[in-house]
Amino acid sequence: MTEVTLSPAAPSTTSEQAIAQERRLVTEIPGPRSRELHERRKAVVPPGVHSVLPVYIDRAHDSIVVDVDGNHIIDVCGGIGVTTIGHTDDAVIQAAREQLGKVTHTLFTMTPYEPYVQVAEHLAQAIAGGEGYTTLLMNSGAEAVENGVKIARKYTGRPGVAVLEHAYHGRTMLTSTMNFKAAPYALGYGPRASDVYKAPNSYPLHDGLSGAEAAKRTINYLEKVAGAEDLACLVVEPIQGEGGFIVPADGYLPALAEWCRANGIVFIADEVQAGMARTGTMFSIEQFGVVPDIVLSAKGIAGGLPLAGITGRAEIMAKSQPGGLGGTFGGNPVSCAAAVAVFEQIKQRGLLAEAKRIEATFGAGLRELQEKYNVIAEVRGKGAMLAIEIVKPGTLEPAPEIVGRVIDEAAKRGVLLLSSGAYNQAIRFLPSLKMSDALIEDVLSVLDESFAEALG
Ligand SMILES: *Cc1c(COP(=O)(O)O)cnc(C)c1O
Repeated sequence: MTEVTLSPAAPSTTSEQAIAQERRLVTEIPGPRSRELHERRKAVVPPGVHSVLPVYIDRAHDSIVVDVDGNHIIDVCGGIGVTTIGHTDDAVIQAAREQLGKVTHTLFTMTPYEPYVQVAEHLAQAIAGGEGYTTLLMNSGAEAVENGVKIARKYTGRPGVAVLEHAYHGRTMLTSTMNFKAAPYALGYGPRASDVYKAPNSYPLHDGLSGAEAAKRTINYLEKVAGAEDLACLVVEPIQGEGGFIVPADGYLPALAEWCRANGIVFIADEVQAGMARTGTMFSIEQFGVVPDIVLSAKGIAGGLPLAGITGRAEIMAKSQPGGLGGTFGGNPVSCAAAVAVFEQIKQRGLLAEAKRIEATFGAGLRELQEKYNVIAEVRGKGAMLAIEIVKPGTLEPAPEIVGRVIDEAAKRGVLLLSSGAYNQAIRFLPSLKMSDALIEDVLSVLDESFAEALG
């Protein structure tokens, strides 16, 4: 039998008690209590549910997570871009708590409630100034993608789903087929979904193509392999997340959107990672001058609570029959209340500008590191969605072992980082939009030490 009570710990505090926004280590990483928990976990959680860093978190605020051993660790990952406005944001906590005391569930498709409508209003506003877009709410990014595809198929009456190389869309049966990487997402879980076509993307560092050239390559491929008139939708991450924060060349996305329009293909922007103010605009695609037919949001939308949105042109969304869309927990009232607070906080605290501040300070620091370490081939990204691509010196070959060593060294020093890319060729940075410049400087100095150590 597994012991299910926690062993004696440092006195626990609630997350709302002030957590100093600074790095402070009191044990090695992972510490003894984390290691103990990890042993217990192995008996009851399967290895397929893998934790990148087995440091067990007790509480968190803004940019700092505090583990069960009392270490204060700088979180530059944010649960992969979820805590965009920081951990346990006061306004989010208050809104969620108020809603918890009112009603936690009715099922919107049974008897509705206002917070769902408010989130839909905010999303319509964010995409198109409030006009002509309607929203279905679900729980996760993968569900958003599933529903986006479903809605596009219903609207067009066509089966085909076009995606791009280096894409990531989730772990459900359909989305795991849509991902670029077979391992670990689809391998052994077949049969895979049919009618999914993976076209070449725009990856300027590697293909050297202009946006127009890369778009031509993508379109030629899809016309040849899928046939435009068989395609329901093209699903695109405007900045590819798991792929390595790949920013397409100028003109690439507008050319794809134009081709979709001309061929009756629904253009779906998967903004699950890049959306919700992360890149300095509410949705990253704004910066490419494209208004998509459908926008998918999730990760950062509710400040850490599960929620996902499928927001599309009303005409497309209206094709689905009553009862065709929904799910028991979709648009949970507590998550919706939290999301409303997130939208309000983005505005009130000027978080779009904060994303641009982070792009400037963090970006400048990363470029300094690039001068110093020739394994850094590129600094890229927008706003608070930045990455560095790591290569074998003098080549463009990925160097995942260096990525791994740098991330390990940073973890030992109390900075939580994450790799990215089909070949683990990148280190990505997803700080809270409230991370101070002082904390960013500290992260950069830890990165510097970690590179020196990893390469030494
Ligand atoms: C994370 C992610 C998803 C999947 O979201 P889940 O909530 O993990 O299902 C889909 N698309 C993109 C771009 C993502 O980054």
